[in-house]
Amino acid sequence: MRVVVDQDLCGTTGQCVLTLPGTFRQSEPDGVAEVCVATVPQALHAAVRLAASQCPVAAIRVIESDAGDDERASADPAPSPAEAEQRNPGGHDGTV
Ligand code: SF4
Repeated sequence: MRVVVDQDLCGTTGQCVLTLPGTFRQSEPDGVAEVCVATVPQALHAAVRLAASQCPVAAIRVIESDAGDDERASADPAPSPAEAEQRNPGGHDGTV
């Protein structure tokens, strides 16, 4: 997961910084929020989603997955066609 702040939208309330000071900070001297991590650790995903939902001007955007999200890729890799056939012979998807 990654998170970005639209600095043109940010209202400088500091709410996100108070919620997650290790993830967000306010720049000097204008108080616009910045993200201070490249990727969000798994343990903070829920808190970042909450901070984004509570931003009064919706300036925080959460990017749930990206090519660099190795945690997710290693935890649930997409099966190869051979693995998919092994898991679900005949390709029926289980819907009725
Ligand atoms: S909560 Fe939103 S408006 Fe407030 S500082 Fe953070 S990004 Fe800016």
